[in-house]
Amino acid sequence: MKKRTFIILTAVFAVLCSGSEIFAASPLETKIRDLTNKLTPELVNIRRDIHCHPELGLQEKRTSALVAEYFRKLGLEVRTGYSVTGVVGILKGGRPGPIVAMRGDMDALPITEETGLPFASKVKVAAEGREVGLMHACGHDIHTTVLLGVASVLAGIREELPGTILFIAQPGEECCGGALRMIREGAFLDYKPQAFWAYHVDDTLKAGFIGYTQGFACANVDGFTLLIKSKGCHGAGSFLCVDPIVVGAQVVTALQVMVAREIDVRNHTVVTVGYFHSGAAPNIIPESAELWATVRNYGDSQRQVLKDKITRLITNTCEAAGASFDLNYEFGSPSMYTDPGLLKEALATSERVLGSKSALVEEKPEMGGEDFSFFGKIAPAVMLNLGVIPKDMDKTAVHSPTFAADEDNIAIGVNLMANIIADYLYKHEKK
Ligand SMILES: [Zn+2]
Ligand SMILES: [Zn+2]
Repeated sequence: MKKRTFIILTAVFAVLCSGSEIFAASPLETKIRDLTNKLTPELVNIRRDIHCHPELGLQEKRTSALVAEYFRKLGLEVRTGYSVTGVVGILKGGRPGPIVAMRGDMDALPITEETGLPFASKVKVAAEGREVGLMHACGHDIHTTVLLGVASVLAGIREELPGTILFIAQPGEECCGGALRMIREGAFLDYKPQAFWAYHVDDTLKAGFIGYTQGFACANVDGFTLLIKSKGCHGAGSFLCVDPIVVGAQVVTALQVMVAREIDVRNHTVVTVGYFHSGAAPNIIPESAELWATVRNYGDSQRQVLKDKITRLITNTCEAAGASFDLNYEFGSPSMYTDPGLLKEALATSERVLGSKSALVEEKPEMGGEDFSFFGKIAPAVMLNLGVIPKDMDKTAVHSPTFAADEDNIAIGVNLMANIIADYLYKHEKK
């Protein structure tokens, strides 16, 4: 059924594109499509298997073993253990050429699934003293499945490919800096890719549509924890000690004024204090207030600007009130930059393979984070977004208990990425 749907979809796009320029097919395009169609039922089963066995970041033991076994059966060189559960499958083409990489992330979220699907997750874990469900609510089951699919298709034509392709099954995207750990633990010491690609499911698009963003696609994910200290005193003797709640409130307000009045409005910036805990009774001024904040913006220089401003603002606000404090500011994953040249090539292939420019949707940058950005620090990188809204639904939402995905996106994603990689290898082969 999936195969038929895929063929119909391709045909629809072929009709849509009549009258517009169609790029010449690569010599391998037909083979890739046939291999993808043959593989699709197996991939759908794999996706459902991964979906109903979700695992938290850096604990993806079952998924990691499944991926490693699948790569081994394809004849790939398999390296495991990066970032605990990360796997790299190395596919060598039939002749020398560029080294490139595709990444799929494997981790799930602590969300109790409410989709009612026959393969819905029933897995539960203990978190912070209570039982919570686990769910692939960000589509990483699909990312991993598509990664396996592209590896399988390209392994089927390996003799015709120039170069080496690394298939990266990455742990801990949601929680634990899995990408950075893989890099630090030497995942690319022997083979350093000159291009990286990845997909993320897109809950704003239907299957068959591919989203992309020019320039920065996701933001720096930085933040701080702040502990404002006081000796505490009776609530009626408010002049006897520093009130950390009042100081904390001043910090929260000052941060918003700083964003509104000190940051160039063209430099997208968000500072959110999402955690402000203090006190236990109405008539006691507490001994401390604790604030945690997330800081989002784009680019390396801008994140340092924000850090300097926030440090100055907190230091001055606390000192003015006579409060001592501990500030811990951390840089998390960097903003994700879409390489313009690599994007242009990916879009040219996408237009040809999907048969229509109208299947490509330019999207606005996100203030969310994505640690694929660390790979983009090594070499040009592009993340494409796979439309997943189910046919019978108007919308769906990642990170929600009801997130559901149209599985047609698996075949579409495999077919497209296999072509993008094959095209790139042919184009950048040194002759
Ligand atoms: Zn997510
Ligand atoms: Zn995700």
